[in-house]
Amino acid sequence: MKQKKITISYQVFHSIEELSVEDAQLLEAAKAALQLSYSPYSEFRVGAAVLLANGAIVSGANQENAAYPMCLCAEQVALAAVASQYPDVVVKKMAITVTTKHTDINEPASPCGSCRQVICEKEDRQKGVPIEIILQGEKGDIYKLNSGRDLLPFAFDGDFLG
Ligand SMILES: [Zn+2]
Repeated sequence: MKQKKITISYQVFHSIEELSVEDAQLLEAAKAALQLSYSPYSEFRVGAAVLLANGAIVSGANQENAAYPMCLCAEQVALAAVASQYPDVVVKKMAITVTTKHTDINEPASPCGSCRQVICEKEDRQKGVPIEIILQGEKGDIYKLNSGRDLLPFAFDGDFLG
């Protein structure tokens, strides 16, 4: 038997002013995308914005449906928009933020498992170029991770399919 360990490292910033200009702009774009959320059922808004290698920023927000399983996450809405509008452009980073009227969210909310899988697939599609992940709640600390893979150890990927 051999014991193994997986570690990830990430950065913690205490305010948006501590971020680089580029990262701060991306997080602001994610916050602006909260207004595009269609979430009448949960009233939980999620905004995502991605920065592409060509400098474009593409945002997305969660889109709910009365048939609950059809709800779309903001991260997947944004990445689907990228795949449609900029299919060959590398995604460099993604900022994600959340808000709800039901409680204060003072710490980062991270992507659901489904979104982690989709982010990893995008990293695979761009030949392993990592997508940095920037997370913030309504306020409070900001986390910056180096890649989607860091959020999903032991990810399933196309290599298993031969
Ligand atoms: Zn999700």
